[in-house]
Amino acid sequence: MIFFDLDGTLIDSNGVWLQVDEAFLSKRGLVSTPEYIQMVSHSIFPAAARFTKEHYGLEENPEDIMEEWRDRAYDAYARTIPLKPGALELLEAFRAKGEPMALLTASLPELCRAALAHHGLEGYFQGLFFAQEAGLEKRDPAVYPMAAERFGVPPGRCVLFEDAPDNCAAATKSGFTVVGVYDDFYAGRWVDVVENSRIAVRTLEGFTPYIDSLTAFPYTERRT
Ligand SMILES: [Mg+2]
Repeated sequence: MIFFDLDGTLIDSNGVWLQVDEAFLSKRGLVSTPEYIQMVSHSIFPAAARFTKEHYGLEENPEDIMEEWRDRAYDAYARTIPLKPGALELLEAFRAKGEPMALLTASLPELCRAALAHHGLEGYFQGLFFAQEAGLEKRDPAVYPMAAERFGVPPGRCVLFEDAPDNCAAATKSGFTVVGVYDDFYAGRWVDVVENSRIAVRTLEGFTPYIDSLTAFPYTERRT
């Protein structure tokens, strides 16, 4: 089973969240702090909204904060965010091999679906696993066995393409074969991506010749 992260792995969306955050804060005369950026960029939506409310002492409740983020981001996901280079070719190559694929994302379901529809990608995936619906963050190793179980596959036979270093570490810990994917957003932590992945790639472009070696071991049993 091949799992893909969405933001920063298949689509070039990590910068969009910085823009959403900046617009949200500047409307209130606030500026982002390193602590804020660190927290919200690694968190699922409800936890990030609760943190934002507390960190800045905001009046609105987390639901209203999430709604404003969602509205600001929706347009971008539905219309402008591009695929990362090589993403489509990689999905095509796995499909041609008959490998089942799923998304494993901390993205909001409606944003995720908007981006998939925009790029015509819905048909590639057997399912979409939303960390938010599991109530877990992707840096929590517990999310990976849950996702594997959803599709009836043991973690040892799962591959994950992922850009966030903490998520790479958590998935590796859970027995997934992790392909770390470079994204500018985590440029300063590239060494952590490399250390916590089976393979780390600067781009998905040109990766398709290597997918056989990636899945050969985990799928040996099924194919015999
Ligand atoms: Mg990501």
